[in-house]
Amino acid sequence: MRFEDLDIIAPILKALKDKNYTEPTTIQEKAIPLILKRNDVMGCAQTGTGKTAAFAIPIIQLIHRIESREKGKPVMRSLIVTPTRELAIQIDENIKEYSKYTEIKHAVIFGGVKQGKQVEKLRRGVHILVATPGRLLDLIDQGYIRLDTIKLFVLDEADRMLDMGFINDIKKLLKLLPAKRQSLFFSATMPDNIVKLSRTILNDPEKIEVDPV
Ligand code: AMP
Repeated sequence: MRFEDLDIIAPILKALKDKNYTEPTTIQEKAIPLILKRNDVMGCAQTGTGKTAAFAIPIIQLIHRIESREKGKPVMRSLIVTPTRELAIQIDENIKEYSKYTEIKHAVIFGGVKQGKQVEKLRRGVHILVATPGRLLDLIDQGYIRLDTIKLFVLDEADRMLDMGFINDIKKLLKLLPAKRQSLFFSATMPDNIVKLSRTILNDPEKIEVDPV
């Protein structure tokens, strides 16, 4: 299997070539076509499996399609929520690399640092926002972020999210997201409480499971 066989657009293929990715990993092979077909996805996969590219590549592709028809300031179309600052930075870095030959604007926000630079970037407009829950809710409360334009929502590392006590933050976010959206849910483990949470987020999801690498 090659990335070309997954119907990935030329600007992303070129970026993947720069990264020397020769073929998709298992989760990428399974998830990319489903996401491009606008399915909700529940992915049981750990870090190290290529999970980030499995959602980042199709999100960039779907947004590129919308963005190329729009003029003016970028509208936020995708929100990716992840539990830690390190993961958030890593995901944003991946998006930067895979989208470098597109016009897609992205930003990352997390707590523990002053919000000024993050707010400035948001003011200029982004298509894809990567966020940790606390800072995200903070900036929503202050009126810098609205979620009503989101078409693609990702909850990453859901099990860690619950372990870290973010359940109420997630519930708050879910109330602010449009009901009509595509949602992707990733977790390394799938105990009952995670499955229950996934049911409140996903609509008739396709399930993908991959073994740790
Ligand atoms: P992740 O599971 O998303 O944390 O990715 C693990 C590592 O694999 C990261 O360093 C990625 O840059 C790398 N990676 C992701 N997809 C591929 C691929 N198709 N080929 C080679 N490396 C990849």
